[in-house]
Amino acid sequence: MIDQMFIEPRYSMHQKKGWIEVICGSMFSGKTEELIRRLNRAKIANQKVEIFKPAVDIRYDENNVVSHNENAVPSTPVANALTILLMVNDATVVGIDEAQFFDDELLYVCEKLAEKGIRVIVAGLDMDYLGKPFGSMPQLMAVAEYVSKVHAICMECGDLATHSFRKIDHDNLIMLGEKDTYEARCRFCFNKGMTEQK
Ligand code: ZN
Repeated sequence: MIDQMFIEPRYSMHQKKGWIEVICGSMFSGKTEELIRRLNRAKIANQKVEIFKPAVDIRYDENNVVSHNENAVPSTPVANALTILLMVNDATVVGIDEAQFFDDELLYVCEKLAEKGIRVIVAGLDMDYLGKPFGSMPQLMAVAEYVSKVHAICMECGDLATHSFRKIDHDNLIMLGEKDTYEARCRFCFNKGMTEQK
């Protein structure tokens, strides 16, 4: 089954044992919504939740993880991955959004957090606008206990979308996602669009 809903492992079975979950996919695939869903459920389970995002992601709100459906959760923008280790305090669940924009230390940071007994939930783009693996995401997917790939809908053909197609040509990787710049596409329609742009 595709995109099966993630069910949390029982905390009691993982006492003092942390783990890493990765939520990945293209733009408009609902990654942040899924991150927020899991964090809200952790809160209901009386877990202490902290959320971090790279300071580069200032699309809508300085202090909130904001998804495209405006379901906001308070979060802390940090300048680099190592800062997360200094700021976790007594959190038992740590959410990290827009993980692809963090530096290479994010892998080390997530593994350290898990070693400390923390449940780490990382959301990010698995591919950039060229269809290449993005930042630390492939490494995180390799070491994570759980990986969920969520899918958007291809705006060309209506199939499941895995790629983020950039409609205008621009060489800046960190051009933040606006609906008029990017669209979700399946592999076929992504490749077709890339060929047309050449
Ligand atoms: Zn398509």
